[in-house]
Amino acid sequence: MHEYSVMKQLIAALTDELEKKGIDRVEEVTLEIGELTFLGEEQLQFAYEVMTKDSFLEGSTLNVVNVSAEVKCEECGYQGGINYVDDPAFHYNIPVITCPDCGEKPRIIRGKETTIVSVTAFQED
Ligand SMILES: [Zn+2]
Repeated sequence: MHEYSVMKQLIAALTDELEKKGIDRVEEVTLEIGELTFLGEEQLQFAYEVMTKDSFLEGSTLNVVNVSAEVKCEECGYQGGINYVDDPAFHYNIPVITCPDCGEKPRIIRGKETTIVSVTAFQED
C-alpha cells in the first residue's frame, strides 16, 4: 500500500527530528497532504497507528489536512484549481491533468506534497 511507504518515511523523519530535540512524548501531529498525492486519509491513519505502536509516538493523534491542487498554465495564463473526474481508477493511475481553459498541460504549483506542518509535544525532565 502506497500509504504505508509514505508513512514509514514520515515517521522516520519525524522520529529523527524529535530525538534530536530530546522530545519523548507527542500529543498531536498535523500532516498536510496534497490532492495529487492520492493518499487515502483512512489508510494513513491506520498506517500511523500501526507504525507508532511501542514507540514514543504511540497514542498521539494524527491530523490530516487536505490541500487542494493548483496549477498554472504557461499557454493561456490560467492559474487555479484543476478539474478531473474522481474515478477510483485514478488512484492507481495518475490522471492526465489538463488546463480547464485551453486543454494544454499545466505546471503543478501545489498538490503533490506530503508535509508535516506541526507537532504538539511535551518535554519532560
Ligand atoms: Zn491554459
